[in-house]
Amino acid sequence: MKWFTHKAVAVAGALAAGAHPAALFAVMIGSVLPDMVDTAMARGDKKVWRRIHRQTSHWFGWYLVIIILGFLIPTQRIVLDLLRATHITFPGVSPSALAQVSGIGNDLLVWVGIGGLIHVLLDALTPMRVPLYPFGGSKRFGINLVSTGTWRETIFLFVALGAIALQFDQARAVFEEAVRTIL
Ligand SMILES: [Zn+2]
Repeated sequence: MKWFTHKAVAVAGALAAGAHPAALFAVMIGSVLPDMVDTAMARGDKKVWRRIHRQTSHWFGWYLVIIILGFLIPTQRIVLDLLRATHITFPGVSPSALAQVSGIGNDLLVWVGIGGLIHVLLDALTPMRVPLYPFGGSKRFGINLVSTGTWRETIFLFVALGAIALQFDQARAVFEEAVRTIL
């Protein structure tokens, strides 16, 4: 899949899920992260690229781990403990308020992980598919639905965005229904 497809699907999905602007940026970074890793590792060497592309960086497990870490890392407690231990204070800002703000880091980590997972799932829909195991091994999974850069990818993008928009409308309808019931 092209970078544009990855970004568009990830950002549209996050938008539909009601993500805040910083989260949209995080999910966009995550949605191209697997390819960014490959580009950085290959450093312009086409031979290296062919060997490493869509291998370790495209294992879904890494992004699940990032999401889980985002939920598990006790950022607020760490920041509070750190502020207490170092006796650092900021005039006019309470330590607990500062700790609360730092919690957005967890949020962003989760969104980066979601973006990465979306990237891997989209690549799983191409003939090259994605690896089943993190390191080596020829076992791959996915379905041959769209080839990168073809008209089928363009159609896929429109269908995916349409499906997300539909979800959004449905979500809104459910919300409105709930509000009507409550009021
Ligand atoms: Zn990729």
